[in-house]
Amino acid sequence: MKVQFYGVRGSVPTPGKHTLVFGGNTSCVYVWLQNGDDIILDAGTGIIALGDRLINDARPITIVLTHNHWDHIQGFPYFRPIFQPERNILLIPGAVDCDDKDMVLRQMSGSNHPVKYDQLPANICVNESLALKKAFDIGGFNVKTQALNHPDGGTAYCLYGDDKKLAYVTDNELAPPDEPRTSWQQWLDFIDGADMLIHDAQYTEADLPLKHGWGHSIFTQVAQLAVEAKVKSLFIISHDPARTDEELISVEKILQEKFGESLRVNCAREGVIVDLESMDINGQ
Ligand SMILES: [Zn+2]
Repeated sequence: MKVQFYGVRGSVPTPGKHTLVFGGNTSCVYVWLQNGDDIILDAGTGIIALGDRLINDARPITIVLTHNHWDHIQGFPYFRPIFQPERNILLIPGAVDCDDKDMVLRQMSGSNHPVKYDQLPANICVNESLALKKAFDIGGFNVKTQALNHPDGGTAYCLYGDDKKLAYVTDNELAPPDEPRTSWQQWLDFIDGADMLIHDAQYTEADLPLKHGWGHSIFTQVAQLAVEAKVKSLFIISHDPARTDEELISVEKILQEKFGESLRVNCAREGVIVDLESMDINGQ
């Protein structure tokens, strides 16, 4: 199993000289197996460049969404395969509280967008029921789900394939002010022994209490969770739009000094490829 980060930023895209190292595109992660089976996690602006990669690959596309906040769907209208006739695209939306499971499509309606979703040439199927299941299969992947602690809900995923386990948990507040949808212990069980955990940590301790309840975790909490769950490698994602490269490098150093003996920990960088077999990290 290999993983490539196409978008690692939370909330809003952040182009500019202060985000050149980690990247400014919003959430999108591409995962593929040795046999070529693949899954796209989230459709933030990072999916636009991924569309350029997949445009000449005629195979069906599967996009799995955690939830419908803008930073997880806003790249979809510019994902070039949706304009290809005969292209089959399966969309699996996260389990959100509101009755708008197809929001990824309906953002292309009304006065929001010039091309309407019902005019798209591709064969796009939205399967609303899969993320409600505890487990399902997509190609060579076995997928397990868990409810995110996030405003309006959402779904975390564990992907199993090539005898590896990848956990994708964003956006998620490990210690929300109200009763969590998923407790600390339930997270430990869900991510237990994962070869790679990709987890949201948008905040530092200094960001709280103002942002308590906004649905994101702080760095040290996430690293502690990963250590307790015996995760092999942690990649922090959903970087705060105001966090500069310099600040993220500093965060990374703090985490490596504090947790580095029992955990490989990095802040995710756009473009980086991780091979879960060798744990080689390319492009960093
Ligand atoms: Zn969100």
